Amino acid sequence: MVDVTLAASELAELMRQGEVTSEEVTAAHLERIEAVDPGLNAFLAVDADGALAQARDVDRRRAQGEQLPPLAGVPIAVKDNFCTRGMPTTCGSRMLEGWHPPYEATVVERLRAGGLVILGKTNMDEFAMGSSTETSAFGPTRNPWDRDRIPGGSGGGSSAAVAGYLAPLAVGSDTGGSIRQPGAVTGTVGVKPTYGGVSRYGVVAMASSLDQPGPVTRTVLDAALLHEVIGGHDPRDSTSIAQPLPPLADAARRREVAGLKIGVVREFGGEGYDADVEARFHEAVDLLRQGGAEVTEVSCPNFDYALSAYYLIMPAELSSNLARFDAMRYGLRLGDDGAHSAEEVTSITRGGGFGREAKRRLIIGTYALSSGYHDQYYGSAQKVRTLVAQDFEAAFGEVDVLISPTTPTVAFRLGERMSDPMAMYKADLCTIPSNLAGNASASFPVGLSGEGLPVGIQVIAPPMADDRLYRVGGFLEDAIGTGWRAPLVERIVGEGAAK
Ligand code: GLN
Repeated sequence: MVDVTLAASELAELMRQGEVTSEEVTAAHLERIEAVDPGLNAFLAVDADGALAQARDVDRRRAQGEQLPPLAGVPIAVKDNFCTRGMPTTCGSRMLEGWHPPYEATVVERLRAGGLVILGKTNMDEFAMGSSTETSAFGPTRNPWDRDRIPGGSGGGSSAAVAGYLAPLAVGSDTGGSIRQPGAVTGTVGVKPTYGGVSRYGVVAMASSLDQPGPVTRTVLDAALLHEVIGGHDPRDSTSIAQPLPPLADAARRREVAGLKIGVVREFGGEGYDADVEARFHEAVDLLRQGGAEVTEVSCPNFDYALSAYYLIMPAELSSNLARFDAMRYGLRLGDDGAHSAEEVTSITRGGGFGREAKRRLIIGTYALSSGYHDQYYGSAQKVRTLVAQDFEAAFGEVDVLISPTTPTVAFRLGERMSDPMAMYKADLCTIPSNLAGNASASFPVGLSGEGLPVGIQVIAPPMADDRLYRVGGFLEDAIGTGWRAPLVERIVGEGAAK
């Protein structure tokens, strides 16, 4: 029997020692998906045959004595906005229902080259717009900790799959928080690498200057190992940084923070933050102090305007990126009955194919970019973006990393914020500044709230200093321990299925 609660690094080690095969590990996760996913809806597509074939291939190569990469044979789930061969890529939208991309994302190619076994594609908010996975055209994903609650978004499928032991690893994409906020509310590790640190080639664009793919895992070392597989320069992405990654797994293995200068972001806390979120955060701060870190408070005054600037820049970029869904080249086509003009077919298709949130943002973005308003809205937002970046620069002149809660509250209930976009947007209050400035940032679990729901801490590092995230995360993982995960392990792994 394969223990699906083991970390990817542990499963990889067992495979290396010949204790277990990739086929067995993969089969165990596929069984678990079959048993549990009807109650979670984390996966939009599962490629059981493809996964087992990849696993057997890894086993065969290992048996022949080939030296395999560190995570070879470990199964992984992929967010459904990464282009994949042999599997559909829908972005959680009717617009792309059943679409099979003719090429593969660089991240997916690197996963395959690293011997990882792709289990399937995970649910997400439509084209990555949302903080709850409720805007998916294929139904919401549920949080394994409490199935009446959201798993975060837009990458709720990946975070629920990893938290619920359906996959040891996943990849996501983070435009405003879509890896970190789901990480916080599901008790998983979510990393948004430095912008340009992981290739965006083949990741369906939401807002190109903000989007960044990254790892979703249960342990800090797993995230670092996965980051090393998918990261690094890619000539096919014009914003990819032509510089080697710092040593990430080594940083994750350090497990100490002595002498590290840590700044608590003054602007993130107080009104609107759950008392338990603040309590777990302050306990983590105490642990960092006890570990020898120098903790001070740092003010980043322009972070207060980051959310507003984001909700102009992101829709503006989105409206130009999603213009390609015109019903002519690929994807959904409605109203093509001979009675409608091409323009009408485009309009009918967009009307029927996009959900409410997508339409809201496409209209806002188109408006913000229109002549006469461009400077007033988009131009002003870009200026705020520069101010946010300057706040980071000033802060990183004083400290090595910044910290804050990842998100102001624990997982909210399904349906609770769907009719209140502002409440939904506020889930990303603390995560958005790093997307605007492009620096590295991660969420690490710091235990549970009084009602037994996960809480996350955000660690923020300068561009290309992603190793610092793993150093702090590794320390906290040891200091806090992983015992807080026991209730979920007992309930959903013990019973076999969450119905
Ligand atoms: N929740 C944010 C939004 O709705 C961020 C989404 C993301 O990171 N993809 O835009």
